[in-house]
Amino acid sequence: MSGSPLYETFARAPLAFEKGEGCWLVTSGGERYLDLAGGIAVNSLGHSHPHLVSALSEQAGKLWHVSNLYEIPEQKRLGERLVDATFADKVFFTNSGAEALECAIKTARRYQFVNGRPERFRVITFEGAFHGRTLATIAAGGQQKYLEGFGPKVEGFDQVPFDDIDAAEKAITEETAAILLEPVQGEGGLRTFPAASLKRLRELCEKHGLLLIFDEVQCGVGRTGKFFAHEWSGVTPDVMAIAKGIGGGFPMGACLATDAAAVGMTAGVHGTTFGGNPLAMAVGNAVLDVILADGFLDEVTRKSLLLKQGLAAVVDEFPDVISEIRGVGLMLGLKCVVPNTKMSAALRDRHVLAVGAGDNVLRLLPPLIISDEEIREGVERIRESAASLSQTSAAAAE
Ligand SMILES: *Cc1c(COP(=O)(O)O)cnc(C)c1O
Repeated sequence: MSGSPLYETFARAPLAFEKGEGCWLVTSGGERYLDLAGGIAVNSLGHSHPHLVSALSEQAGKLWHVSNLYEIPEQKRLGERLVDATFADKVFFTNSGAEALECAIKTARRYQFVNGRPERFRVITFEGAFHGRTLATIAAGGQQKYLEGFGPKVEGFDQVPFDDIDAAEKAITEETAAILLEPVQGEGGLRTFPAASLKRLRELCEKHGLLLIFDEVQCGVGRTGKFFAHEWSGVTPDVMAIAKGIGGGFPMGACLATDAAAVGMTAGVHGTTFGGNPLAMAVGNAVLDVILADGFLDEVTRKSLLLKQGLAAVVDEFPDVISEIRGVGLMLGLKCVVPNTKMSAALRDRHVLAVGAGDNVLRLLPPLIISDEEIREGVERIRESAASLSQTSAAAAE
């Protein structure tokens, strides 16, 4: 063994945290970091949220796991709440985003199969997509850097340029089963599909008998100021994968579908050992208690405006460092002019955490409970970081 016992798959920052409080992470030495990364959109309610802590602790004293061989009342309750609040009629719980996507893709293929079109198994996706790291989801994402060296790409995924609806239409063949996209691309660099494009894709799916699948693993569960990002467009999918924010830090995901879309997912065709276990369900229900409470999502939108205004002023002041603010709600991206890794390091020097993304973007995915004061503090530290990298301020300082 050489060095770390861990796979070298992550380029980790040299930082370790001992505890978290709301939007702050604290090292063992007591240094406090403002967490605008939110564990990559996972810590939707921040760290150590009292309602989540008590839900998990209470459940931990009662029952951890029974398997899906038995009824799990909390699973049924969370399923009902998701169904009541969305387009969906049915839910399958998973442990992660990639598994939710696997379930979504399998749902679409089975839908075609049981409707007498077994030849339809292909899925159209868009450049810049990220759908996870399993063999099928790297094929769906289509990014060469994630596919290389892992053998033949799983068959059945056809990619077209981002938001190119004409190309998507041309890519439809007799073998196409579904169209899959993130309403707001996360890893791809905070790119939002316009409502008009989603409407056209919905029409294409109706016309050709395809299922429309949304990946809301990152943009869902309140992140954009609606419960789900597609609500901004008025377009609903047939199937949707969620994860990240629904668990608030407890690993869980879900695949949601209409009755019609889920028609092929009958007894025995799919399964999971851990998915939907009592611990995860207790936390998922607790997350929804907060996010679906009156006024919570409106607050996300109000805070988003405050953060965007502050960031826009930084763009105006240092256009040679940041050229544009992208995204929706509290899923924002700084389109960098300097390398985004430099911006990220400058922020870390000022004890602010953010996440890199494609297209030289730096993502801000703060806990949805961030306060106005924390937003102002974050903007000020981002301003200082931009100033430290700006040629104009370097020249002014000479
Ligand atoms: C994170 C993410 C995934 C994968 O989720 P995992 O839990 O890492 O498997 C899939 N799609 C999107 C949009 C994501 O952001």
